[in-house]
Amino acid sequence: MDSKTLILALVPVILAGVLIHAVNASIQKTSDGPRWWLAGTAAHGIGLGLISLRGFVPDVVGVVIGDILAAGGFLILLEGVARFAGQRVPHWQLGALAGLVVFGFPVFTWAVDIAALRFAIFGIGVIVPCLLMLPYLTVIGHRDGLPGVRLLRYTIFLFVIALAVLSSSILLFDPDLPSVLAPSQMMALGILFLMVVETNLVFGFVLLSAGRSASVLKQAALTDHLTGLPNRRAFEAVVNESFLSSPAAVAPAAIAVFDVDHFKQVNDTYGHDVGDAVLQHVADILKSAIRETDHVARLGGEEFVALIHSHSSVTVQDVAERVREAVQDHPFRLDGREIPVTISAGLVEVTDAHPTLTGLFKRADAALYRAKDAGRNRIITAAA
Ligand code: GH3
Ligand code: MG
Ligand code: MG
Repeated sequence: MDSKTLILALVPVILAGVLIHAVNASIQKTSDGPRWWLAGTAAHGIGLGLISLRGFVPDVVGVVIGDILAAGGFLILLEGVARFAGQRVPHWQLGALAGLVVFGFPVFTWAVDIAALRFAIFGIGVIVPCLLMLPYLTVIGHRDGLPGVRLLRYTIFLFVIALAVLSSSILLFDPDLPSVLAPSQMMALGILFLMVVETNLVFGFVLLSAGRSASVLKQAALTDHLTGLPNRRAFEAVVNESFLSSPAAVAPAAIAVFDVDHFKQVNDTYGHDVGDAVLQHVADILKSAIRETDHVARLGGEEFVALIHSHSSVTVQDVAERVREAVQDHPFRLDGREIPVTISAGLVEVTDAHPTLTGLFKRADAALYRAKDAGRNRIITAAA
């Protein structure tokens, strides 16, 4: 089989990839990455199609445009990966690679006709973008999980091998030298590798999108829609996993259940919308008053919870008190008027060797009830 036939064999594989990307891009609208993968794969496939038509079409199409599209498609894929990671490829990198591809092929076709140099440019034009994808893939892996990232990493590794095999068959092997494989067999082996690479690239990118969908859903399931705070489920997960499993390591710590005082009156007087805005206001104050190493969440209704740690000379009571004061000192503003807002809290220190969240909540609730009974706008610590 000659190389053109082999390259032609890649085209249906890539066509399938284009269709898969088209469907994926039409349903994945949260990021523009999938559209770039579609464009990159299509450009690459059209380029390979033109290359396989060499001899039947003018060189400008079969060699120059074919090579530019086949290699340039990888630059488009790279930009898609960067955007999917929420970043951009630096302009100088894009410019240098685009310049190499767009000017390299015409120069080494018309100015000096050196096929080996065209091949070298092709190799650089596809491998460098793939290698540049790796740091973006790491970012994506941290956010969305690893399945797609892993597949793409292995594939890029495989790609380097495939190109090494192909280039050695083209650049290094003297046809007269005895070798285990004939150059055409090396070529066929390289193309077979490439088929695997092309297929994996498509599925790798689709898996990235699937990972993103899953992480968006997971995030939504763990976030309170109104305030943007973590919800009860998220709080329980964090506290159970990171804290209650080894409380000794992070003690002294406490759980505080905060409840807005007379919140029903806010709703009744100003309406439910204003009530919602007051909850957002309180959530914002809690977020800024609670240190980043501590956790705060909305339990539901007008109740919030925080896992707080004491640090240096600041006790958990000090932290809770600071939060209460912050809410008291920042009245909610409505049309130039101030609506006073206060909170009460039940605080329970984690002293038990094997505390359960249910037990802690129960004691915090009892303390909160006492805080309400004692006149509100105060913190009460549950008896040990
Ligand atoms: P206390 O000081 O004893 O806590 O009195 P309270 O009025 O704050 O407590 P109560 O439990 O009587 O009322 C809580 C109110 O919170 C009742 C409910 O309609 C309202 N509420 C619960 N969730 C929401 C919400 O998401 N938005 C708004 N606007 N109101 C909510
Ligand atoms: Mg309540
Ligand atoms: Mg209340």
